[in-house]
Amino acid sequence: QSGRKPLMAGNWKMNNTHFEAISLVQKMAFALKDADYAAVDVAVLPPFTAIRSVESLIKADKYGIQFGAQDVSQHASGAYTGEISAAMLAKLGCTYAVVGHSERRQYHAEDDALVNAKAKAALAADITPILCIGEGLEVRKAAGHVQHCITQLDGGLEKITAEQVRRTVIAYEPVWAIGTGEVATPQDAQEVCAAIRTRLAELYDGGVADEVRILYGGSVKGGNIAGIMAQDDVDGALVGGASLDPGEFVKICRYRD
Ligand code: PEP
Repeated sequence: QSGRKPLMAGNWKMNNTHFEAISLVQKMAFALKDADYAAVDVAVLPPFTAIRSVESLIKADKYGIQFGAQDVSQHASGAYTGEISAAMLAKLGCTYAVVGHSERRQYHAEDDALVNAKAKAALAADITPILCIGEGLEVRKAAGHVQHCITQLDGGLEKITAEQVRRTVIAYEPVWAIGTGEVATPQDAQEVCAAIRTRLAELYDGGVADEVRILYGGSVKGGNIAGIMAQDDVDGALVGGASLDPGEFVKICRYRD
């Protein structure tokens, strides 16, 4: 991770009311110390309905936890019932917005063009997109995983400039490892994360590729994070299930211990 500050981001998915969100962030903040924030960026990604409460709590008590959203509209404003714009998220103090999570690709038919539009909308509002890519089991079995991820990466980064990609986080999340308890081996994670960095160097240049944080996601827990973080091209984790348990998430943030 030479020079890149690791990021541990908790994707809560559709869990936690705003009351429960406050309680969870308080528990995390109680456990996390200045040394933790110095070593890693710690972020939570609550449902939209809990972001305001999380923001107020973090601001009032000056916690070092960052926060963001799990999705963002590609549109700036207007007649898009149910959507949330990047400007709205920026006003709430969001640092991040996930774009292209596999659950959105699968259940909401999001394709690379839409994911790319969402990433651009986030960047235009000074929000860091966490651009998710990853292959399903069939593709992995057929050994097409690297090519699949590079195709998604190319599509997601279409017309995104070098200055913008520096402010982007890429998350490699093999779909077969998300919520299944089946974590990729550290070598599996490294293989694809290294291929992503190589591709970034081709699309931009080596200096840019060196700056971009690439996360692994898929059944990360306190017990398996150290091996994953030992890989050169893995700069953190996007954590689903384990981020709902403050003790487990803090263990992940302390992977060095
Ligand atoms: C995710 O939703 O991004 C994820 C990685 O989930 P889990 O950690 O539960 O596999």
